[in-house]
Amino acid sequence: MILHITIPRLMPIRLAGGPLRETTPSWSPTAKTGRSRIKTALGTIRFRHGTPSIDINAMETSEKAATSDWFDLGAKALRQTVKDLPELYACPLCLHGFEREQIGYLTREHVPPACFGGEKLILTCGECNTRARHSIDAELGKFIHLRKFVRREMDEMRQYKVTMNGTTANVLVRFGSDKCEVVDFSNRNSPVVSADLRNHLDIASATASLDWGFKMSPVQDRYRIGWPEVSLLRAVYLAAFAKFGYAYIMRPALDTVRKQIRQPEKRLIKYFLTPVVDAPDETRVIAYVQKPEWMRCLMAQIGQFRIFLPFFDEEASLYKRLSEAHNNREKTKVSATLLPWPRTPEFLLDFHKAAVVRRLRPSDS
Ligand SMILES: [Zn+2]
Repeated sequence: MILHITIPRLMPIRLAGGPLRETTPSWSPTAKTGRSRIKTALGTIRFRHGTPSIDINAMETSEKAATSDWFDLGAKALRQTVKDLPELYACPLCLHGFEREQIGYLTREHVPPACFGGEKLILTCGECNTRARHSIDAELGKFIHLRKFVRREMDEMRQYKVTMNGTTANVLVRFGSDKCEVVDFSNRNSPVVSADLRNHLDIASATASLDWGFKMSPVQDRYRIGWPEVSLLRAVYLAAFAKFGYAYIMRPALDTVRKQIRQPEKRLIKYFLTPVVDAPDETRVIAYVQKPEWMRCLMAQIGQFRIFLPFFDEEASLYKRLSEAHNNREKTKVSATLLPWPRTPEFLLDFHKAAVVRRLRPSDS
């Protein structure tokens, strides 16, 4: 199938916010393996120690069974790809290995985040999950709220800053489908500011004049520029992990992606996302882009966003090439194989490598 993609110019990116607080876990060799890390041809797996964050016995039976099933499948997939490993599940984001008795460290994560209509898809470690929830996923949530406001889809109150005739005040605003209403401001400002705003509003409504300067900006929904995109990059990376497994994510080309996910405050990858204006929110697609050759990659679409991931090793410089094409405003005709969005971990490259490579091998004809 042929997809026509225009690589639009990148929006100017403003870096905002300080660095994420890094938690420094302490490592010691496990009693079982006597090792704190295993070096493999594909990368290093470290062991996590300490007390699990979740009490597996306190979980609901169905949740417990699902976590356990996904642990088994993941551990099996990892052993298919990295031979001679003990039974381990490695978190796809930090690549820390967890033994069976450490299953309480692992959480069934929503992909994409629940605020974007995601469903539980894959096990990640509690630390990686929590860190994203409080940073990039929270920023994605704010972005979605703001978008609902722009689309006039919400009926709830949000905090805004309003400037009217030179007076700036905090106001609580209710957005409906056909109107926007200032609900309250008296308790949110000094008496002088409240009185000034009331005065301006009274004059405006009495004279029905439109001759006043008016500016409104979100307080609650102000998100860190660039962070929602990194949240989506992370979601697509996790979906690709569910689809292709360890043999995919342990390729060197994916290091940059993990690094960008860990450091949303830095723009390490200049160009990895392109918006698709008309797509419905529920769109979920993974596609293997085969042509043009320079663009061979994995492309996933979540709602209105298409995100690019390297697929084979030689695609390590994919982002550089995408960025150049984008700067040159190139219009690119793309030929891609569409793959169904994963609903559960599949780990195709770990279990069915030959079949996948055969199917996706670029045809030179
Ligand atoms: Zn992790």
